[in-house]
Amino acid sequence: MKFGTLTFQPHKPEGFDFHVFRVKPETGVRNKPVSDMPSNIAVFADTQTAQTHPDWVSQSPLGPAQFGNNNFNIYWSVLCPTQPEYREEQLRYIAEIDRQSPGIWLNSQYFADHSHCTCPRCKDLQQKSGLGFIDWRRRVVTDFLEDVRGAVKKELVLSLQPDPASSLERYGVDFDDSAKYADKFNIVMFSKNYATPWYWEMLARGFKKLLKKPFYISLYVYGPGDLIQDVPLPAELLTVTTRCARVGDVEGFVYLIDGEKEMYNFQKSAFENVALRQKLRSFGGDPVQQFLDRVDSWEKIIK
Ligand SMILES: [Zn+2]
Repeated sequence: MKFGTLTFQPHKPEGFDFHVFRVKPETGVRNKPVSDMPSNIAVFADTQTAQTHPDWVSQSPLGPAQFGNNNFNIYWSVLCPTQPEYREEQLRYIAEIDRQSPGIWLNSQYFADHSHCTCPRCKDLQQKSGLGFIDWRRRVVTDFLEDVRGAVKKELVLSLQPDPASSLERYGVDFDDSAKYADKFNIVMFSKNYATPWYWEMLARGFKKLLKKPFYISLYVYGPGDLIQDVPLPAELLTVTTRCARVGDVEGFVYLIDGEKEMYNFQKSAFENVALRQKLRSFGGDPVQQFLDRVDSWEKIIK
């Protein structure tokens, strides 16, 4: 089992096996890729492009895919995946970033949420396809993934929303279609707290049952602009990782951070919580022990 970071800055905190750099987060800002960090790209979530091309924003009967539309869990703007210029530009961009870094982790490579997109172009395309709305959206996403696979020569990791039951209806994502193109998946299980680890373990079990490629689980440690009172407690992160690890067959865990110091603070707090680490040792088999061994190993980086 591997342990990595997903970072908004080109940082490589000690004590991990790999570091994924958020080269293009949902803000649309484009950072320079780093030659030894896989690159994370948010594809259709792109607030910056939405500002210069408001007509590219994904539409629905419940309003556009924009921050402030509380019909959807959207904290940025999401573009229509059939906008031809943007789609082609993203494929070129993904290919270029793949050349400059050791692999591509995509997220937002699908529709904004249920009921999207009903812009005039999408309505027209769906009608011409002869398919129902759900089947047509599935084809749009799967065709895009086929093109992405052609563009990415190195490892391709596809992120999935943490919804094992309704991804097709909400995002147009069929797990078996995606498995044809992904080397691995990444289940994004971000939350500002993990007070009820039972739910996260349940989601991990659901994905283990459904996915035909190995999968990582991403957990939230510290995001841009957060205050210490906003983020999960180190004890919650220790527990939720243990609970998901014992599901078995998890490829690894990836921790989201903005800043090396914040990761170090988490590692230090986790290591110093001896009583909880001892208790968690009794929670399951090998993967649990591997995770707790990793936390033990952080002793050498604690200053
Ligand atoms: Zn559209």
